[in-house]
Amino acid sequence: MTVPQPDVQREDEHMHRYARQVVFPPVGEDGQRRLLGSTVLIAGCGALGSGIAELLARAGVGTLRLVDRDYLELHNLQRQSLYDERLLAEALPKAVAAARRIREINSSIVAEAHPTDLTGDNVLELFDGVDVVLDGTDNWETRYLLNDAAVRTGTPWVYGGVIGATGMSMSIVPGRTPCLRCIFPDPPPPGGDTCETAGVLGPAVWMVASVQAMSALRILLGDPPAARLTTVDAWNAGTEGLDLGDPVPGCPACDLRTGEFLNGARGTGVRLCGRNSVQIAARPGTRLDLGAVAIRLGSIGAVRHNEHLLKLHVDGHGLTLFADGRAIVSGTEDESVARSLYARYIGH
Ligand SMILES: [Zn+2]
Repeated sequence: MTVPQPDVQREDEHMHRYARQVVFPPVGEDGQRRLLGSTVLIAGCGALGSGIAELLARAGVGTLRLVDRDYLELHNLQRQSLYDERLLAEALPKAVAAARRIREINSSIVAEAHPTDLTGDNVLELFDGVDVVLDGTDNWETRYLLNDAAVRTGTPWVYGGVIGATGMSMSIVPGRTPCLRCIFPDPPPPGGDTCETAGVLGPAVWMVASVQAMSALRILLGDPPAARLTTVDAWNAGTEGLDLGDPVPGCPACDLRTGEFLNGARGTGVRLCGRNSVQIAARPGTRLDLGAVAIRLGSIGAVRHNEHLLKLHVDGHGLTLFADGRAIVSGTEDESVARSLYARYIGH
């Protein structure tokens, strides 16, 4: 965390903008300066990520690093509060749309857009200089990856998840509190409920996002919350807290430090939370000229593109190609079908 040198005029503006939280004693002017000098990584800019990013941007957290692998769809608007019909019409990656919206909310902070998948190859780079990581992901594989990266780098992170009208959150300070795998040693088996099968309600998202954002503010202010699993029930307006005690001896992540999800020993990286879609990764360092690809594919199927992504509808499938060569193939959960479509039309 870097505490910027005071610039009197800018300082006055800041203290006016954030006056209602500066007067809250646990924040104060020193705390506000800490927030302004902080960097947070928001992993996933869907429903939880939207709520967290907005709350932290309004609170004056100086840099938001926004990472998301997906693109905007109509059914996101029911609960993903950063987005609207105007952004949807531009067919933007969520990370790009989120950064644009955050800059409209608070132009005095930095919003970085990273439209990419979090993997063992890039996660440590994205953690660089980060004071706290917020979980806005929709899958356990990425959460265990975040957990391994947090343990490796000693970075605090805040888990969150929502399904239906309920959700959970816990904050993890490596070395001090239990980590995710101390509490949930293995990912749940496939076939359980997902947001697609069980639904998800906006008010439940906002409750969990609020708990996560508050935990992040406390960590940034140097007063992290106790080790506790918070469960929220938005339908019945209830919350419960389960005290978690100490890190678990023998935990493969934080005690044995196996880094299994970080080094690729576990996790396949192709599943997308029960969506009838498959993600195809590209070779690291790939950059595509999407305009040239659009011209090439124009005779094959319906194509539209912008500088960030290209959408092709062909053979009853949708193929969304990002500028880094990554693609999401919809209309199948069969990886071989998706790979063959990718090979046929994109060709790498
Ligand atoms: Zn652990």
